[in-house]
Amino acid sequence: MKIDLHLHTAPRSQCSYIDPIELVAEAKKIGLDGFCLTEHQVLWDIEAVQELAGDSGLTIFRGNEITTAQGDVLVYGLEKDIQGIITVQELHQEVQAAGAYSILAHPFRGFKTFGISDLHMSVEQACKKKALQFVNAVEIRNGKVTDQDNEMAEKVANKLGLPGTGGSDAHNVDDVGTFITVFEQEIQNDRQLLEALHAGIFTVEAGR
Ligand SMILES: [Zn+2]
Ligand SMILES: [Zn+2]
Repeated sequence: MKIDLHLHTAPRSQCSYIDPIELVAEAKKIGLDGFCLTEHQVLWDIEAVQELAGDSGLTIFRGNEITTAQGDVLVYGLEKDIQGIITVQELHQEVQAAGAYSILAHPFRGFKTFGISDLHMSVEQACKKKALQFVNAVEIRNGKVTDQDNEMAEKVANKLGLPGTGGSDAHNVDDVGTFITVFEQEIQNDRQLLEALHAGIFTVEAGR
């Protein structure tokens, strides 16, 4: 199954221009099997997601992108809206207690812009980023960062033995599915997505 694990829609994410209904149409058009709504700090209601999916044939999942003091973390299976400042350790405790799953989003966003590469940051040094100790996986393909940022994330994930996921992080409908995560099995609901993530068997691809 081809799933975009990282998407933002308006108005739940104020920074997004994607109308959820247009998102469904675009996802179908580009051949996705499903996607996961990961608004900032807001979890969709299950009823609203079911209504959105309607008879589209797509499977729509619910996640959340939580801003921590150490970076953005995508969470799946956490039925709790987290508001205010939280550390990545605190979030990790919540995730573990709930049996949820966390992915460090775009871990090296701005890697090039902020000149870290000019300082010749090695993969070993990058691996010391604290948040990496408190997540289940790393987003190694994010549609909103540079190739260099993604490459560093992939090298770090490989070095640490963490699974790597892909997601578009789309805020515009044209960006939906730029990167996706591919699962071999059929996944029909949030619980099954959580199980598939924990099983760790998935690959990343460009989805459009
Ligand atoms: Zn983010
Ligand atoms: Zn995002």
